Amino acid sequence: MARSTVAQALVGLLFAFSSVARASPDQALCNTIKTKLGNDTVEATDGTYEALSTENWSQTVWAKPACIIQPSNAKELTYVVSTVVGQKAKFAIRSGGHSVVPGAANINGGVLIDMARFNSVEYDANKKVATVGSGLRWKEVYTALDPYNVTVVGGRVLEVGVGGLILGGGLSYLADLHGLVCDNVVNFEVVTAKGTVVNASATSNPDLFWALKGGANNFGIVTKFTLKAYDIHDAWGGVRVYSLDALPALFDAMYQYQSVANKDPYANIMLQAFPTNASIGAILNMVYLKPEAEPEAFAPFRNITPLADQTKLQTLTELMLAAPLPELTRVNWFSSSYTTDKKLFSQVADIVTKAPEIEEISNLTAGSLAFGWQPISSSAVLAGHASGGNPLGLQPVNQTWLVLDVGWWKPEDDELAHNYTLSIIDKIDDASKASGNYVDYIFMNDAAADQPVIEHYGQENVAKLKATARKYDPDQVFQNLASGGFKLP
Ligand SMILES: Cc1cc2nc3c(=O)[nH]c(=O)nc-3n(C[C@H](O)[C@H](O)[C@H](O)COP(=O)(O)OP(=O)(O)OC[C@H]3O[C@@H](n4cnc5c(N)ncnc54)[C@H](O)[C@@H]3O)c2cc1C
Repeated sequence: MARSTVAQALVGLLFAFSSVARASPDQALCNTIKTKLGNDTVEATDGTYEALSTENWSQTVWAKPACIIQPSNAKELTYVVSTVVGQKAKFAIRSGGHSVVPGAANINGGVLIDMARFNSVEYDANKKVATVGSGLRWKEVYTALDPYNVTVVGGRVLEVGVGGLILGGGLSYLADLHGLVCDNVVNFEVVTAKGTVVNASATSNPDLFWALKGGANNFGIVTKFTLKAYDIHDAWGGVRVYSLDALPALFDAMYQYQSVANKDPYANIMLQAFPTNASIGAILNMVYLKPEAEPEAFAPFRNITPLADQTKLQTLTELMLAAPLPELTRVNWFSSSYTTDKKLFSQVADIVTKAPEIEEISNLTAGSLAFGWQPISSSAVLAGHASGGNPLGLQPVNQTWLVLDVGWWKPEDDELAHNYTLSIIDKIDDASKASGNYVDYIFMNDAAADQPVIEHYGQENVAKLKATARKYDPDQVFQNLASGGFKLP
């Protein structure tokens, strides 16, 4: 080799060495992974980085990871986990990215493991189960199953992600009939902190199986879920729109609907109202899981005249397609649970429509508040018990899971939006505690980052969850390195 070429090679080597030396440990880790996975690793200089790092639904959780890794299969994911854990790097896991908890499904610095390529749906008609990738959206799951005239217990808004929704418990229109979404999983395929692939089912690693039904990202990364499938396809229902003036009548009807002795489990409802926006008023989603118009279960709502009525016979997927993902920039939400009581319902109705904090939220730039009234019947909880139980600590009583959604525009209003909404939820909790109707459960999928979700699963369940975490993740990788989201207390 000529002397000048040797010199050039040396300079090149030195340059490469110094840029590795200059690279942060996270960048060096990303480079290592990129060498193995190629285009599955997206770095800040890559064209798709901006879109991928801001894919999370709420701007409050957008972040700048050192790289975004999109493994395509469990083998690649085990390599990623082993490498990241070996370097003790911080990481976050994202499926659909709909969590509003900062750091849960995106990360500043560190590695974002994006599950988007775990996107297959396989239906086994003999076993009546569907195996779905954790990176899918519910729309993809339902439309893949429609040709077989079956469905699974899954999310109610079709753009939302599969992974986070199931691992947070999961509320579905099929809940009163078949339990929560997590109760309908028959197998989780999981990559553990040790970088191995394990199956968790009633017969294989049953402790992990139980723990994952609401255990969030504390035990491993789920690559796919095998879900029970049901012969449900044609349904009746849709949306009825009301003015805000109709709210007292709607709450009264809701009380009647929820207090019948044997609630029809094929009937499901979600009432949303917008106290900061008089022109939208209230929206009632009614779903009957059989093709029968105007079923008796919804009789309490019959005499309340809507502004618009889109209820009709249609497929369940068509019905859910009509509920689009709301477009908001910055979002947070809070959850509260209580049993059915006429006086409490009217107190809560007053709080969510008249609390002075509502005016304060309206005064924020593009400030909005919505509340969702989600009735859950004892049958939903009992169905969970019948499928082997879960760690959520739910009691088999008819209850409401209320969600307050706050939206706003500017980062400088983050704290105010949080504090006003927290103040409203505190008032609701105080009212339900005073009347003896408080339910000691905070629904993870509707909870704000500072709501102590897993603490409320109950001491015994928390102890069992911790023991399971120690067994599958002895070095506490999912507590310390994947530190975002609802963690074990
Ligand atoms: C418009 C809208 C409608 C909604 N409707 C419903 C509804 O009908 N029912 C309901 O229950 N909830 C509903 N939710 C709440 C929703 O379930 C949560 O936001 C949930 O976190 C979304 O799942 P995701 O995959 O999009 O979450 P992500 O934001 O990707 O993840 C949420 C959490 O789960 C963890 N996680 C995600 N995937 C994995 C994985 N594969 N392995 C390990 N950990 C993982 C993440 O690390 C993170 O902590 C709704 C949300 C929105 C915005």
